[in-house]
Amino acid sequence: MQVSLLASGSKGNATFVEMDGVKLLIDAGIGIRRIKNELAEIGETVDDLDAILITHEHSDHVKGLVPLLRACDAPVYSRRGTLKALPRINEMPLDRLHAIGDSITLGKVRIESFNLLHDAAEPCGYSVIGDRKCTVATDLGFVTSVVQSSIEGADALVIEANHDIDMLRNGSYPWPLKSRILGSRGHLANSDTAWTLSRMKKKPSIVFLAHLSEENNRPELADGTVRGILKEQGITLSETKIALGSQNEIVTMGNTY
Ligand SMILES: [Zn+2]
Ligand SMILES: [Zn+2]
Repeated sequence: MQVSLLASGSKGNATFVEMDGVKLLIDAGIGIRRIKNELAEIGETVDDLDAILITHEHSDHVKGLVPLLRACDAPVYSRRGTLKALPRINEMPLDRLHAIGDSITLGKVRIESFNLLHDAAEPCGYSVIGDRKCTVATDLGFVTSVVQSSIEGADALVIEANHDIDMLRNGSYPWPLKSRILGSRGHLANSDTAWTLSRMKKKPSIVFLAHLSEENNRPELADGTVRGILKEQGITLSETKIALGSQNEIVTMGNTY
């Protein structure tokens, strides 16, 4: 298993996952040149991709999809509602867009999708399950029991830690935008993420805190809040690495953990 966050944040998201030889890109919210360059940095190319999975149609997750489809042959999988809502769908080869239900199998790998609460057509997260399990859950306003059970058992977990509630409340965003982010179809606060981790029966080997807001969060605050709440609950993270997603840099743990 390899997991690399090529980009993570409100301006663009793309995550490379390799599981048992199956290579996936989850979301394509950065430009094609950057996708190619960053894949090259981790020793991959767009031609190696077996599939592209899309979580939802917001531009920070799909704005590189049209050029990516021109640059490679990989099929796209997403929920039916998301596919229908894709911007620039008239520029995409429809025979490469596949609606998925609860799960699909690619090679030796099973991919499960699960519903997220977010203000998009049909947003979902993904678990990639082979020898090990990698789960990606970003862009969700509330951790439902479905989300909590879907992330359980993940060896690698990419989970949103979007904002610090006080920074958001006191920040410069207009109130309608603040209330959208804080709402149950918005984004997870650092403390929500911490509580979600605390409820996991088996802690992951690695947690990527993802989709950090550049406006309403800071990496050290996300990290500190998560560690602080877990410590208060008596949960030690000796077996778990915490990595912080970045808008501008690749964050990868490869096979080194
Ligand atoms: Zn997003
Ligand atoms: Zn979104």
